[in-house]
Amino acid sequence: MIIAVDGPTASGKGTIAKALAGHFGLPHLDTGLLYRAVGRQVAMNGGDADDAADALAACDFPDSLLGDPALRDEDTGSLASRVSVHQDVRAALRQRQVDFARQPGGAVLDGRDIGTVIAPDADVKLFVTASPKTRAQRRYREMARTNTKGSYEEMLADIRARDERDTNRSEAPLKPAKDAHLLDTSDLTIGDAVQAAIKLIEGHLHSD
Ligand code: C5P
Repeated sequence: MIIAVDGPTASGKGTIAKALAGHFGLPHLDTGLLYRAVGRQVAMNGGDADDAADALAACDFPDSLLGDPALRDEDTGSLASRVSVHQDVRAALRQRQVDFARQPGGAVLDGRDIGTVIAPDADVKLFVTASPKTRAQRRYREMARTNTKGSYEEMLADIRARDERDTNRSEAPLKPAKDAHLLDTSDLTIGDAVQAAIKLIEGHLHSD
């Protein structure tokens, strides 16, 4: 079974995807990490994330970079959003994601274009959303917990900028697949959101 989980930043999609993988006993790929690795590698190369050639050169990042905690930083998230608009970057990362999705037994992948581009034939597709304000509050609380600098207003501005870039790019824009189940987590705890996702998938499986 292939489960595609898409949605904007801080919607809860990563936590939901991980929980679904645990619940259904499937391997999980956070595809945002691949774009984050490219963003970080561009910076380490001294390149420009907005330059297609610099971004493509950074797709050769070593696998060890995927374990770097700096990939989780807000700055790296912004770099990831900038490199991800380049068609060549998306093409370079595509096969790795397709192979992961098609492994025997299936997988859970989360990202922006899993249900639309990487695994359009996924058995179940979820599109997880939450209001920009809720997402900014989540990010801000997370930053306060980890003693990272930054204000709520900065978080909200960054989230809006990223949504704008991810939604309006010409290559694989962030949007729900036609056959995706929408899950708005604005008023749900993460535990409730996970339960709602499990219920949606079980309902889907039983309807086959
Ligand atoms: O999900 P995460 O916030 O880690 O992703 C970082 C950035 O990588 C996103 O803002 C998006 O621009 C890009 N991305 C993408 N396609 C994916 C996953 C992430 O374009 N499948």
